[in-house]
Amino acid sequence: MTPLPLQRSFRHGVHPAEHKEATEHLPLERMPFVDRYVLPLGQHIGAPCRAVVRAGDRVRRGQLIAEPGGFVSIGLHSPVSGRVLDVGPHRHPNGQLVAAIRIEADPYSSQQITPGPTADPASLGLDEFLSHVQLAGLVGLGGAAFPSHVKYKLPEGKACERLLINGCECEPYLTCDHRVMVERPEAVVRGVELLAERLGAASSWIGVEMNKPDGFDALSRCVPAGATINISPLSVKYPQGAEKMLIEALFGEEVPAGKLPIDLGIVVNNVATMASLADSFDRGIPLIERALTVAGPGVDRPANLIVPIGTPIRDVLAHCGINQATRQVVMGGPMMGMPLATLDAPVLKGTSGLLAFTEDIVNHPTEYACVRARAGRYEDLEKSYVMDCMECGACTYTCPSGVPIVHLIRAAKLTIRQKKANKA
Ligand code: SF4
Repeated sequence: MTPLPLQRSFRHGVHPAEHKEATEHLPLERMPFVDRYVLPLGQHIGAPCRAVVRAGDRVRRGQLIAEPGGFVSIGLHSPVSGRVLDVGPHRHPNGQLVAAIRIEADPYSSQQITPGPTADPASLGLDEFLSHVQLAGLVGLGGAAFPSHVKYKLPEGKACERLLINGCECEPYLTCDHRVMVERPEAVVRGVELLAERLGAASSWIGVEMNKPDGFDALSRCVPAGATINISPLSVKYPQGAEKMLIEALFGEEVPAGKLPIDLGIVVNNVATMASLADSFDRGIPLIERALTVAGPGVDRPANLIVPIGTPIRDVLAHCGINQATRQVVMGGPMMGMPLATLDAPVLKGTSGLLAFTEDIVNHPTEYACVRARAGRYEDLEKSYVMDCMECGACTYTCPSGVPIVHLIRAAKLTIRQKKANKA
């Protein structure tokens, strides 16, 4: 047997049960089209986009329906051919009412996509490259939905020496990135090549946790001879997919408090984002769909699905079957995901999973005596670098008193930000 290559990791971290066995071997399957879609104008970090369609307009699958509302904003495209019902308030997965475009799918359409213009990134100037990425509506698909072109616009005086691609997928249950690596390794590697060339990175690294050996092998087979792309095996640990942890795991370097990866000459992106980047340049296909995992004990038929952005969550769950024992549906992974306020909300660009949990999982443990988590000592918290907390939830997971520490930290960060804003 060939020995496994050396697996790197970072110090500390936790090992939650993986729960990936139900879906890790299930190929990506396409979610059938449904009747209606809801596209919130603000489903990324930054300014909401601006609708360029009105009620009654006919739209084609892949057509731009909203333009960027500023630099930190992106384009939004119709996931189906059909008719715009309205542009108005609709429930976001967090329960708030937000502006959204509702589209009724044309039941007689073949839903063939009309690709937009393709482009050779090597022939584009940097501004044209960034503008293409922005208009294609690309965001980081790992969950945060940060506009990709903003990440690729390097601050004055900074250079990208290393491009680091996150293939950890360290959240329990989620396996959609795993399947993208196994089933679309050429697209991932192509995205890495074109981005590295455009950013001028001397080397590229794809870190893969080794509970995905087939993903590691598939990517390794696609790297052309002589390319400066390293597929790096990592041991399994949470939260290794967090940028700063991944950098420590692979390079043994620490991003200082208050600094960003680019301060070390590193740009970090996710594997699925690389495949979308390749699709947008080589096939002229904007971000209109994404891979996500539907799993958890409340789901009858767990799956890895390719879902049009804007599909109502209720329809996705109906497709997989959701049983009576379900008490909560979480968008994203169980560590960092968000419990859904309503199933009428749609799948967003940042939706990596839909997890249906039963009472035994939802039930919070009894909370016992705590040390000082609620003392409200904001100045001390700041001195202890609370603003660098990435809200990974590992502290809540390990707290022996069952205190929801990450919720307290999130609230403290908000209070500190508000106090600063009030002073300004
Ligand atoms: S304090 Fe923040 S970064 Fe540290 S374990 Fe808790 S949630 Fe994660």
